[in-house]
Amino acid sequence: MSEEEKESCFACGITDDERVLLSCKHEGEDKWVCVRCLPPLIHGS
Ligand SMILES: [Zn+2]
Repeated sequence: MSEEEKESCFACGITDDERVLLSCKHEGEDKWVCVRCLPPLIHGS
């Protein structure tokens, strides 16, 4: 296993050690976003 491949929020970079991450799709790529960064994305800021 590689530490470099550990899931982290694409917006703030936090890992699932510190906050819940949700998988999502962005620009055709599978990404992870944390619950704190998700609301602004939903609201289209
Ligand atoms: Zn985040």
